[in-house]
Amino acid sequence: MPIVYIYNTLSRKIEEFIPFSPGRVQMYVCGPTVYDFSHLGHARTYVAFDIIKRYLVLRGYDVFHVQNITDIDDKIINRAKQEGKDWKEIADFFTKDYLNSLKRLNINVDLHPRVTYHIKEIIEYVSKLIDKGYAYIAPSGSVYFDVDKYDDYGALSNRRDKEQWSQEEFAKEKRNPYDFALWKAAKPGEPYWNSPWGPGRPGWHIECSVMSSKYLGNQIDIHGGGTDLIFPHHENERAQSEALLGVKPWVKYWVHTGLLSIGGEKMSKSLGNIMALKDLFKQYKPEVIRLWLASAHYRKILNFTDQSLEQARQNFERLINATSLLRDLISEEKYDFSLNDKDIKYINIIKDLREKFYQAMDNDFNTSAAFSQIYQVTNLLFKEIQYNSSITVLLKIYAFLGETNRVFGILDKYLIFQSIQREIDVETLINLVVDIRSKLRKRKIFDISDWIRDQLLQLGIKLSDTKEETKWQII
Ligand code: AMP
Ligand code: ZN
Repeated sequence: MPIVYIYNTLSRKIEEFIPFSPGRVQMYVCGPTVYDFSHLGHARTYVAFDIIKRYLVLRGYDVFHVQNITDIDDKIINRAKQEGKDWKEIADFFTKDYLNSLKRLNINVDLHPRVTYHIKEIIEYVSKLIDKGYAYIAPSGSVYFDVDKYDDYGALSNRRDKEQWSQEEFAKEKRNPYDFALWKAAKPGEPYWNSPWGPGRPGWHIECSVMSSKYLGNQIDIHGGGTDLIFPHHENERAQSEALLGVKPWVKYWVHTGLLSIGGEKMSKSLGNIMALKDLFKQYKPEVIRLWLASAHYRKILNFTDQSLEQARQNFERLINATSLLRDLISEEKYDFSLNDKDIKYINIIKDLREKFYQAMDNDFNTSAAFSQIYQVTNLLFKEIQYNSSITVLLKIYAFLGETNRVFGILDKYLIFQSIQREIDVETLINLVVDIRSKLRKRKIFDISDWIRDQLLQLGIKLSDTKEETKWQII
């Protein structure tokens, strides 16, 4: 196996990547709390881990990637109250938005465990922590982790001083202000599940310990999220997992993405400066957003500006132009029976750039250096190679773009040879036909609108009309 180097937040060093089981990578990433639309800041983290995963796969590893969904939380409960809805309706709605954003960004997570589908396992886990003496039941029926019982607290976030450990809950019933809730007793009117300690719901941190061990085993290779999660979330996860499972390290590599900011401030719902992905997709192709996010090293703070996204759009155009040029040049079936010196020179240049691409990615996933190799290849194609080069050289470039696309995932639609089909977005096309039909119906031109409905049905697209809108589904 080639050597990949990865930065570990715990050691604060770049280390050689050696998973617990040779060839296999167990990866857990902290996903969203579903109380609002997914935004560009979330995408920053999700794209970064998708690229890490894809690169490890390209390097021959089998990667299992779990990314959880927090579907019960104060913020969800509050939003439900504000809108007079059930908490589950809110959670389901924003879960759908999140999954749709992942799909559009070409992110493939293996498993999306939801907290409320794991309450039984959470109760079992908390019971074991109590039995082992790491947790205690408070008079209210809440259960807290006793931080003093775990002797390595603060190592991950580099906070060795107890003064720096204050937690979000300010309950008087805690033994120490830095203890944190594993189980929260239900307040009147809140959703709850029954437990040995009375009705309540899980605290935030416990879910990730429970679901990661259920699906990935007692030791995990990569555990990640944005740097905003290092304290208290990951510190608390680490404490409770190492305490209960009796393993050290519980996580071999702690990996954190630099936050996405706007005007120098973190993009977050609470600061009111989010750019929802669903809106951004109307302005930019998902591939452009993915390209922009992927072009910066994952640990860097990435500041949003219109200009930088515009630059990404131009870079994407260039890549598409390169693929379309290649398709045109390669389209005829040709074979080389000899090469000239120039061709041999180009082949060697492409080999070097390919090697540098791998070196960059091996070095803690240096995507910006990796992209620069791709642009060097495409520049050479535009400036020289396209004018008089052999099919061998062109196929080398095509293979290089295909290989790098396995990591960056922005050219899937463009690297295939059926040139017409590749750029048509079928969903948009169906929506357009449905809109036209709605306009006809409004003008009471029913014969044509019915004909459209029947034709679509023959193609396997079923329309259903309600008073407000027409929905479609593929049958
Ligand atoms: P949240 O829903 O806020 O808990 O976030 C879900 C995931 O997105 C976590 O891994 C966060 O660290 C990450 N995240 C949230 N906001 C940002 C941001 N502005 N930049 C990068 N990652 C973020
Ligand atoms: Zn987590």
